Amino acid sequence: MIFEGLNEKFQNIFSQLKRKGKLSEKDIQEVNREIKMALLEADVNFKVVKQFTKNIGERAIGQEVLSSLTPGQQFIKIVKDEMTTLLGGEIERMDFVQGRQNVYMMVGLQGAGKTTTAAKLANLLRKEKKFKPLLVACDVYRPAAIKQLEILGDELKIDVYSEHDVKDPVGIAKRGLQKSIEGHYDLVIMDTAGRLQIDEALMDELVNIKEAINPTEILLTVDGMTGQESVNVANEFNRLLDISGVILTKLDGDTRGGAALSITYTIGKAIKYIGTGEKLTDIELFYPDRMASRILG
Ligand code: GDP
Repeated sequence: MIFEGLNEKFQNIFSQLKRKGKLSEKDIQEVNREIKMALLEADVNFKVVKQFTKNIGERAIGQEVLSSLTPGQQFIKIVKDEMTTLLGGEIERMDFVQGRQNVYMMVGLQGAGKTTTAAKLANLLRKEKKFKPLLVACDVYRPAAIKQLEILGDELKIDVYSEHDVKDPVGIAKRGLQKSIEGHYDLVIMDTAGRLQIDEALMDELVNIKEAINPTEILLTVDGMTGQESVNVANEFNRLLDISGVILTKLDGDTRGGAALSITYTIGKAIKYIGTGEKLTDIELFYPDRMASRILG
């Protein structure tokens, strides 16, 4: 069950609501307070929580709920609508270009799931879009990262471009791109280095790779187990790289929901995919309305 704690709390709140006949303004304020607590406990960013409950309160107290014949249901619908918006609503999705090269650059902190997700994505898009993918190993600081990508490529029978003992990620990215052109690969996914925290040297390197390869997508991989600290990380990556979207990983784990519910509102970029397990097929397109339904039950 995704975001189990949050789901349980919303279920409780909603079942109280359904038992009530009419709702007064005071009832709405009380329910909103409970929603606020539930979200803060899930480590959702406080600004997001504030805006979310403000929107709900305004819509509910303005005619939508008070004049409704089924106020509880109506209120629940508002919460679901607002949560869908918070998760990205109709925000723009992946922009594939058939017949042209799609160059994706994976970025993110170490351990977020970048390398695994690069392989998952290559596999998924090969199957769904019939792309011919090439993985490029630009994380030169962790020799294990190159090996890891090679092993994943082997397992999936996806080609990997790597250079051992070369400490020049920009050069590798460029040569990887060149190889992809020569080999007619129409999807190139570059795995880049991460760190435990953001630092200037890493960001400079990522900016240089971006300039050298001009990617069609820059995808920030974020560990879904993290909460609102993910917002600072995402903000910083977005500020320096103008990312095109987010991939949230590890949503199969014991996640509270903080990152998922905070990121899009804060940085204005869509969550495009979610990682739902360690297997290489555990990746799904992200749908804000489906996720809202899963969270709210
Ligand atoms: P990187 O340092 O960002 O490249 O991270 P890795 O790709 O090496 O992933 C770090 C760990 O997270 C590995 O053990 C992965 O198997 C694991 N991982 C990645 N995505 C998921 C996911 O969606 N669910 C689970 N349970 N584990 C994941």
